[in-house]
Amino acid sequence: MYPPKFDYLSPTTLDEALSALSGAENAKILSGGMSLIPLMKLRLVRPATVIDISRIPGLDSIEDRGSHIEIGAMVRTSDTAGNALVREHATALAEAAGSTADLQVRNQGTTCGSIAHADLAADQPAAVLALGATMVAESTRGTREIAAADFFVDTLTSALEPDEILTRIKIPKGGRSVYRKLGRRGGDSDYPIAAAAVWVDTTVGDISEARIALTGVSSKPYLALDAAASVVGTDGSAEAIAAAASHATDGVVVLEDLYGTVDYRKQLAETYVRRALEDLLA
Ligand SMILES: Cc1cc2nc3c(=O)[nH]c(=O)nc-3n(C[C@H](O)[C@H](O)[C@H](O)COP(=O)(O)OP(=O)(O)OC[C@H]3O[C@@H](n4cnc5c(N)ncnc54)[C@H](O)[C@@H]3O)c2cc1C
Repeated sequence: MYPPKFDYLSPTTLDEALSALSGAENAKILSGGMSLIPLMKLRLVRPATVIDISRIPGLDSIEDRGSHIEIGAMVRTSDTAGNALVREHATALAEAAGSTADLQVRNQGTTCGSIAHADLAADQPAAVLALGATMVAESTRGTREIAAADFFVDTLTSALEPDEILTRIKIPKGGRSVYRKLGRRGGDSDYPIAAAAVWVDTTVGDISEARIALTGVSSKPYLALDAAASVVGTDGSAEAIAAAASHATDGVVVLEDLYGTVDYRKQLAETYVRRALEDLLA
């Protein structure tokens, strides 16, 4: 199906894009188009104006900023997956990006687009949650930073205001992380039925800090706080990992859909938290 008619803007500076977004009624940012275009074709989204940010120079780099790395709005998912800085300092994100969809989608879709889209089963949101990332949102009103923990509000709903562009993601260095998932078709390379991203700091020996995030399990990607608390202060023993896994779905409503019942998904969530922790701490 063709999308309804819309105005198409292709600004060449960020200021131009921000002005267009603040002045337009019912406008949408287009980065890679891998989620927006299908939704428009299905007429589930009907923007009056589409603002394509792909021709704005300077948004497509991954930078080392000393204490953190920064991923720009037009960095493609395949570049996130293969980038040496991301692989070293944000392994869970490299793994989540590398297991997203197929190569064509990874080459076209962007990491920031996936985060902004906030699909309940998307891969990369879980990784940025576990990594304690910060989202940088810009509008004509100024710039604000949003912690990943506050960014994912509900299904397809982020903390971005309609006039804001997610211009970059900041990921702090330090610690170690992994991403483990069961894709809908049995492996990686598809939306997860359930997946876990885990980050730990073991610089002092025992686990001094941990974050565990899940996706595909509930109405949004979320941090499993009780699960993470179960391994903090431990050396990552089998008992601590089992305790963490048992809290994987505490406080959330587990989804039931064509891919699995509540019980199956809860079990998967526990299994993937356990596997992620075992692989990370092995
Ligand atoms: C066949 C197929 C398979 C897929 N499989 C997976 C999968 O296995 N795992 C997975 O996680 N995802 C999967 N996806 C979804 C896809 O990876 C991402 O959702 C997509 O790449 C989003 O990035 P984009 O740049 O294409 O965003 P777009 O489609 O351009 O935009 C998506 C939404 O985010 C908004 N947006 C985009 N960029 C910004 C920005 N910088 N600031 C503010 N708002 C913004 C848009 O307005 C729109 O609402 C799949 C998609 C397809 C088509």
